[in-house]
Amino acid sequence: MDCLFCRIVAGEIPARKLYEDDQVLAFHDIGPQAPVHFLVIPKRHIASLDELSESDRPLAGHILYTAQRLAIELGCEEGFRVVMNCKDLGGQTVHHIHMHVLGQRQLHWPPG
Ligand code: 5GP
Ligand code: ZN
Repeated sequence: MDCLFCRIVAGEIPARKLYEDDQVLAFHDIGPQAPVHFLVIPKRHIASLDELSESDRPLAGHILYTAQRLAIELGCEEGFRVVMNCKDLGGQTVHHIHMHVLGQRQLHWPPG
């Protein structure tokens, strides 16, 4: 298995986990860009957002809802940002889809 996030799901690489259930895992980003910066991933390997299929709609909603719920739990009720980078031109470096959640600092758009 050469996917970093699949190895985190399998417990082969440690991560600071925030939440997990049968479908998703959330854990703190190793290189935080804000005081709150965590990732929500599906446990099943999906390489990039453009590989989502129609049947993945409930999973996509579950990822988004998990992101929202954890952001509030971590004190981001005044606001936060979610980001999903898709493929190289979208800035994706780990090729297992993940939703970034950033909060607890003022964020600006565009981010650069
Ligand atoms: P991308 O650029 O693909 O959207 O984001 C990948 C994210 O994964 C980056 O923010 C990076 O800091 C994070 N990351 C990379 N390797 C690891 C790791 O081993 N553990 C954790 N927790 N995060 C990682
Ligand atoms: Zn994977």
